Amino acid sequence: MTPRIAVVGGGVSGLTAAYALRRRLGADAAIDVYDAADRPGGLLCTRHAGPVAMDVGAEAFIIRRPEALALVTELGLAGEVVSPGPLRPAIWSGGRLHPMPRPAVMGVPDGAAAMGALIGDADRALIDGEAARPLNWTPGAAVSVGALVRDRFGDAVVARSVDPMLGGVYSARADDLGLAETVPALAAALDAGADSLTSAVRGILAAPAPGGPVFGALRGGYRRLVEVLSGASGASILPETPVHRIEADRGGYVLDAAGAARDYDAVIVAVPPWRAATLLAAVAPESAATLSQVPAAGSAVVGCVLAPGTALPGHSGILVASDAGMRSKAVTLSSQKWPHLAESGPPVLRVSFGRLGEPVTADDDTLLTWAAEDLATYFAGAGLAAPVIEHTVVQRWPEGLPQYAPGHLAAMAGARDSLPAGLALAGAAFDGVGVPACIGSARRAAARIVDHLPA
Ligand SMILES: Cc1cc2nc3c(=O)[nH]c(=O)nc-3n(C[C@H](O)[C@H](O)[C@H](O)COP(=O)(O)OP(=O)(O)OC[C@H]3O[C@@H](n4cnc5c(N)ncnc54)[C@H](O)[C@@H]3O)c2cc1C
Repeated sequence: MTPRIAVVGGGVSGLTAAYALRRRLGADAAIDVYDAADRPGGLLCTRHAGPVAMDVGAEAFIIRRPEALALVTELGLAGEVVSPGPLRPAIWSGGRLHPMPRPAVMGVPDGAAAMGALIGDADRALIDGEAARPLNWTPGAAVSVGALVRDRFGDAVVARSVDPMLGGVYSARADDLGLAETVPALAAALDAGADSLTSAVRGILAAPAPGGPVFGALRGGYRRLVEVLSGASGASILPETPVHRIEADRGGYVLDAAGAARDYDAVIVAVPPWRAATLLAAVAPESAATLSQVPAAGSAVVGCVLAPGTALPGHSGILVASDAGMRSKAVTLSSQKWPHLAESGPPVLRVSFGRLGEPVTADDDTLLTWAAEDLATYFAGAGLAAPVIEHTVVQRWPEGLPQYAPGHLAAMAGARDSLPAGLALAGAAFDGVGVPACIGSARRAAARIVDHLPA
């Protein structure tokens, strides 16, 4: 019998799941990918600002986590992988740009000196005395990064180093993010007996780091991956076809989509968790109840093409301290970060807004005004004239990313474990929010389905 499998959600997780199923099941398997949007890719989205195509969702992937590089290599795209240049991001705080704290682990410094002029004397004394203060650590504790760092190193380190760093990845403040979920090396070092935050950070930094670039991206943007992955999956991709409900039926599943009921042997659900909760309410109520508890951190990106020849601050980006009183939370100075962009066209950058609990409600015109005003402020801080913006694109991600609160990973493991056979979950909620983690979750989901199908 030819297996029939549905994948709900055509973001990188759903498309990778479809591709992995095809590789394992061969040409005969019938694989349908349903997506509510008018194009596959989800948060992988390349749009035009005037003549320039730019990624307005994800724009890069970590290379030191292997899944994304392995996938693009398997798909024949290794020759299109580009590396960032040597510039580093700066922190905007106190009306000026500062070097990123370092040495540090996800913004948690190894001592006061790493913070430079971002903190005052009282904070410096607090950090330098931290190793001598007793630490009450319970192994496996479900604490937030913010709570731990605030207690040990003070508020300024959270606002001016950890918030900007983690906010760029998770669209949330350190107080809302679990330590084990988002800085697992630090949680592991404390679990293993480090007697202070300082010694935990120093222990991690003492381990040899792999060489080579940390990040990669695709020349031409993420649309290349979406195109090639969609094709290689050999799946029938069904845009503008939201799935409303999944029900069990005669050993398989029935999907309610586009007013029709469609039968499958197995289903991979690769939509955000709060959407998965609705789909799974009838067929996996326990998982659905857990998934429905995950909040969404929305965001928006304003892509800007600047007048040719515009000078940019000498950094790869600007991460904004959460106590700096600015509306934007980060600027990616794309042409500085990615040398291939500087070679091929006018200067481009992206201004990001929004995080958990601070949804982006302003209209497009207001966002464009805020982007221009904030850029003028940051450029002035770098001694540069306000940039002339020639073209823009506004992209909203109202659902954005799932929140990685303390205890999130254990809850998601429970949601996966309580699924009935023939159903699997993939996506940004399960193994990390980055593209490599999503690819890993998709391969795991595909393997579970293949194991379930009769040989
Ligand atoms: C602004 C921003 C920048 C980011 N930058 C990076 C980066 O540089 N590097 C990195 O590694 N990660 C980055 N990320 C994270 C990364 O992009 C995402 O975690 C990842 O792309 C999520 O993929 P996904 O397939 O799990 O989910 P999504 O991309 O959200 O895809 C889910 C899909 O499901 C569809 N869907 C929803 N409901 C239904 C339904 N009922 N029926 C059918 N379809 C449905 C949606 O239309 C969507 O296409 C960024 C995230 C954001 C928001």
